[in-house]
Amino acid sequence: MEYSDIIIIGGGAAGMMAAAAAGDALSSGGNISASVTLLEKMPRPGRKIMITGKGRCNLTNTRKWNEFSGHIHPKANPLKAAFLNFDSEAVTEFFGRHGLETVIERGERIFPASGRAVDVVDALVRAVSEAGVTMHTGCEVSSVKRASATDSEDTDRMSDGAMPEGRFLIECRDGRTFSCSRLIIATGGLSYPATGSTGDGYAWARDMGHTIKRCFPSLTALVPENYKISSAASGPRSADASGLRTSNMGSATGDILKGHIDRSVPLSETGALLNGNHIKNVGLTLYADGKLIQTEFGDLDFTDGGLEGPIGFRISRKCVNTLINGGRVSVSIDLKPAVEKEALERRISSLWQEIASDGRNRGKKYEDRFRILLSRLLPSSLAAGFRRSVRNIDHKRLASALKDWKMDIRGFVGYERSVITAGGVSTDEIKPKTMESRLVPGLYFAGEVLDLDGDTGGYNLQTAFSTGFLAGQSAAEDLA
Ligand SMILES: Cc1cc2nc3c(=O)[nH]c(=O)nc-3n(C[C@H](O)[C@H](O)[C@H](O)COP(=O)(O)OP(=O)(O)OC[C@H]3O[C@@H](n4cnc5c(N)ncnc54)[C@H](O)[C@@H]3O)c2cc1C
Repeated sequence: MEYSDIIIIGGGAAGMMAAAAAGDALSSGGNISASVTLLEKMPRPGRKIMITGKGRCNLTNTRKWNEFSGHIHPKANPLKAAFLNFDSEAVTEFFGRHGLETVIERGERIFPASGRAVDVVDALVRAVSEAGVTMHTGCEVSSVKRASATDSEDTDRMSDGAMPEGRFLIECRDGRTFSCSRLIIATGGLSYPATGSTGDGYAWARDMGHTIKRCFPSLTALVPENYKISSAASGPRSADASGLRTSNMGSATGDILKGHIDRSVPLSETGALLNGNHIKNVGLTLYADGKLIQTEFGDLDFTDGGLEGPIGFRISRKCVNTLINGGRVSVSIDLKPAVEKEALERRISSLWQEIASDGRNRGKKYEDRFRILLSRLLPSSLAAGFRRSVRNIDHKRLASALKDWKMDIRGFVGYERSVITAGGVSTDEIKPKTMESRLVPGLYFAGEVLDLDGDTGGYNLQTAFSTGFLAGQSAAEDLA
């Protein structure tokens, strides 16, 4: 069994930042004999960072706490001390010190100047190594336990003697074992499991007495009714097929999510017509059980998953949360938010007369003239999908339909393609000034494994960096 003073499980954004902060804090505090070890199950660390920001990695943004905090869910307060201790200026300064130049783009978002997410990973790996941390990759932790009084007496189990009470015992899938006096769990959430994030930390936290707030995918595609072929949509079949029922998820997060529709379920004819449309500057309103819940304005994408893009993602948290709890959800898209309905009605009426009096349209059927009308009001790629999705419509009711394009939401794309996992280790049980557990001394949490999730725009990585930095720094200071 290998002993290290501090062990971090998970070499993602939070874990690598925690490792670098712990190593740096130990050496600046003169504690050069203490050791820090990082365990990562994938062959290389930072796999998820590589796919962030479409391969460009939006690593943070320039927002100060009073603005930043409005984008953190379910409540921002548990993050405040970590953020103020290591804010976005500190993050960019940290990366600068480790050889990564950054640039500020539209929306105050910060990216690596190279435009390459891999450079963020390389900078973190350099920081970890310069901080004197030992990193083991390909090292999948299979169990975590805190030594009890019995373990301390059980000299047979330990090749190198008795295990002091309160130490953490870590077993890996390949048979390696580790122990430590300070443990940081930074195993991420459940999203994009192929990157290594399969929710392992939840089960260990729960076994050590922590509450796991119900997990669900967020920043994910919402699937309108009739968008996917219905035979495969929703229900346990699609959920099982996507692997939602893995042992960790089953035991620690508890369930198959009602409303999950796997990304791979094929599109219906309507979905195929709408897929690929990126519409700019529209309004989107979310209704849960008939009540208006949220209204957003901006860009919306129809993809092979369903409704996505900035405003689709913005409503996804509340939408998924309602669906998994058995509620009904619908949305209304306002395709002409800059025009009042009455003005739009007048415009449509005059366009309709123009089309009717155009000699080229003489003898054309109503449906063909209606199609011409639509093509004057919408891009042709969208017009076809809109026409198919909105039944029983004529030119008199078109203004209402364009201002209030209603869709029932049948479900959502799950962890296989959601950007983030909402829910996780309850922040009520974490000391916000150190990230240490209130229940288990010496145990710390950082990153997405916590019940903290942010909107798109660099909020999630900043949260991982802030909590990781504070956890690493606190664990090191606690050793002194
Ligand atoms: C497609 C996509 C795009 C995104 N884009 C952005 C963006 O541009 N900006 C932004 O702010 N956020 C973005 N995010 C969110 C952001 O990537 C995450 O919130 C962040 O990476 C979480 O960091 P973490 O360290 O907590 O978890 P992770 O990055 O998931 O790291 C956890 C690590 O733990 C390891 N691990 C898990 N279990 C074990 C085990 N049993 N033993 C050993 N190791 C284990 C995993 O292999 C993994 O490396 C994006 C997410 C996705 C999926």
